[in-house]
Amino acid sequence: MGKSISDAFEEVMAKVGEIGVQAGEAVKSFAESESTERLARGMKKGTRTAAEGIAKGAKMAAAGIKEGSQIASEAIKTNAAKKKAGREQKRNFTLSNGVKIPAVGYGTYLSTENNGKQTILDAFEAGYRYIDTARFYQNEKEIGEAIKESGISRDEIFICSKVWPTMLGKDRLRESFDASCEDLQTDNLDMYLIHWPKVSQNDEEWITKLQDSWEAMEELYEEGRIKAIGLSNFLPHHIRPLLETARIKPMLDQLELHAGYMQEYALQYLRKERILAQAWSPLGRARVLNDERVRKLAEEYDKTGAQVLLRFLIQRGIPVIPKASSLERMKENLDVFDFSLTSDEISYLSCITETGWSGEHPDLAEWEQ
Ligand code: NDP
Repeated sequence: MGKSISDAFEEVMAKVGEIGVQAGEAVKSFAESESTERLARGMKKGTRTAAEGIAKGAKMAAAGIKEGSQIASEAIKTNAAKKKAGREQKRNFTLSNGVKIPAVGYGTYLSTENNGKQTILDAFEAGYRYIDTARFYQNEKEIGEAIKESGISRDEIFICSKVWPTMLGKDRLRESFDASCEDLQTDNLDMYLIHWPKVSQNDEEWITKLQDSWEAMEELYEEGRIKAIGLSNFLPHHIRPLLETARIKPMLDQLELHAGYMQEYALQYLRKERILAQAWSPLGRARVLNDERVRKLAEEYDKTGAQVLLRFLIQRGIPVIPKASSLERMKENLDVFDFSLTSDEISYLSCITETGWSGEHPDLAEWEQ
């Protein structure tokens, strides 16, 4: 901690006092050794010198205090700006190419089944500006209509879609991308992901298809049609062969991640490769919400289980895309920036026994051709 201005002032004045005492001592010893006349002359001169010295000292002290208070107020301003930046940082994550993505996005899988585009309009009303969709979800049309109807400008909304594994290959991927853009009523996407690495366990051509597909992704990126390109459900052994031929590294990998299924080996690899991990099913599709350990923490913080689960992932450096049907839950899932879990709680939630896994694994999946 630096000195306060009043402490500094007190110190300066103490020094001035000390000098005064020293001057007095000097005059006294002079008086003891000199004649009265010389003493009177000496005292006159001494008083003038002391007065000049005090005036000069006071001027210097005043200038010092002014400069000191300027430095202090600059420091206070810088500190406040840093704190503000810290708060803002937590609401966004930055990809390796500098593109920022919100920490909390809205997941749309099965979200439009009952109310169609109204659900997406509700999500905008709740405050979401990141929409996660996929060709597979068959809701890009509703999302496109909702974006148009919302009146929110296109560049304020971050749209992410994904190509389904049956559409892998250079030309097919482009075809699927164009179809997504058409339904979403946009020429470009903020992010585009390869949804799964392979169609089936017996897909012997998966590496070649992936490498060709990635070339198409790179071209779309270079053409400015996609701001960030990435993967979904890719584990390290799926990413390694892709990186052998890639010119541009994937920027993100969307994985099933939640307390009870943290895929630590994959997370470690992604961190090393500077590929941001993003969590799908961050609430374990509601399966982890009622876990006793999560509920206990929620009570302690006066938050809900969903908020604790989302906050946990964000503090682990992982953006989330929860899906909720009601406006109330949508808002609740966004309201996760006013509390922080301790490192011990993060460690605890990272290490709870496996729970809530979806049962979907990229090496075991069988998608229809
Ligand atoms: P989530 O973990 O987001 O859980 C959604 C479930 O939790 C719903 O049943 C929802 O209920 C409930 N819920 C949401 N918020 C609350 C709350 N505050 N309190 C109580 N219950 C709540 O699972 P999802 O599988 O939907 O994953 C989220 C998104 O991730 C998907 O929508 C999709 O965009 C993406 N995803 C990506 C995959 C991929 O392969 N890349 C795979 C799966 C998902 P209700 O709807 O009734 O409100």
